[in-house]
Amino acid sequence: KVKNMSKNSISFFTQEMKEEFLTRINVEKQLKTALLNKEFKLYYQPQFDMKTGKIRGFEALLRWINKDLGLVSPMIFIPIAEEIGIINDIGEWVLKEACRQYKEWNINNSFRGIISVNISPIQLKTNNFYNTVSDVLEETGIESGCLELEITENLFIDALEPAKILLNKLIELGVRISLDDFGTGYSSLSYLKSLPIDTLKIDKSFIKNTTYTGVEREITRSVIELVRKIGLETIAEGVENDKQLNFLYKSFCDNIQGFLTGKPMPPEQVVKIIEQGKVDLSKYIDD
Ligand code: C2E
Ligand code: MG
Ligand code: MG
Ligand code: MG
Repeated sequence: KVKNMSKNSISFFTQEMKEEFLTRINVEKQLKTALLNKEFKLYYQPQFDMKTGKIRGFEALLRWINKDLGLVSPMIFIPIAEEIGIINDIGEWVLKEACRQYKEWNINNSFRGIISVNISPIQLKTNNFYNTVSDVLEETGIESGCLELEITENLFIDALEPAKILLNKLIELGVRISLDDFGTGYSSLSYLKSLPIDTLKIDKSFIKNTTYTGVEREITRSVIELVRKIGLETIAEGVENDKQLNFLYKSFCDNIQGFLTGKPMPPEQVVKIIEQGKVDLSKYIDD
């Protein structure tokens, strides 16, 4: 017993910390070769127009399947990829693959919706990002208006002006900009109007709370109303049940995305959704 105690007292790391450290090291190591080993895959989640039920577009969501680690969540590996300086390479692959896939659906299934791609703030702060986007558009031959870049508010924290300049250039190129996870960051509704963005995605934490609570519903309703008044398109993310959908419908939210209407899926399944073209939302809406 005494031996054990002294053993513990000299060790700086607890067992838990040690395990965490070891997996982190392992994740880093595996992540560095993931691109080369073709361990990434894109899944796609449909977004639907609230009024018509038609497909608005698909969000590309990155999946990493590693032989040792299994399926690792982007919530875990994206921040690590950012820290160890490989997010630009991964992000460029995502952009290319999403656009390539879009072109394929466009040609084979005459799909005309939007393809949304998540962009890390680090990518946006890298000098050649604009060129990367215009090159990918040229290489894949997709119309710039079909490509939407999802950015987050933390891009604006330390460098508002350079970010605005870049986004304006991208908008001139014709691509769409959407602000992801709205409501979780340092969002100030007052500066929204001055930002070069087309679409605002209301974070799922807002949507989650609209199932029952009155106050949360009022807040979310007001946010949607204000965003629409400014002239931006709204997308609710994380819609999981018909109570939420009903509420969003009555709050005039433009589009919905969530498990209720479609989970992120491999490209093979997307083709079926494109063939259907729309979802029947009336079954959720009680009037
Ligand atoms: P995000 O961009 O906000 O993506 C939406 C996340 O919500 C996705 O998680 C999606 O699977 C999940 N989701 C969708 N509908 C529902 C729902 O009804 N309920 C709940 N609880 N969740 C729902 P995912 O795929 O695990 O991605 C997590 C985050 O990782 C993304 O959040 C995004 O920030 C980041 N990410 C994913 N792919 C990429 C990428 O290619 N590049 C970058 N930079 N980040 C990515
Ligand atoms: Mg997103
Ligand atoms: Mg989001
Ligand atoms: Mg996000």
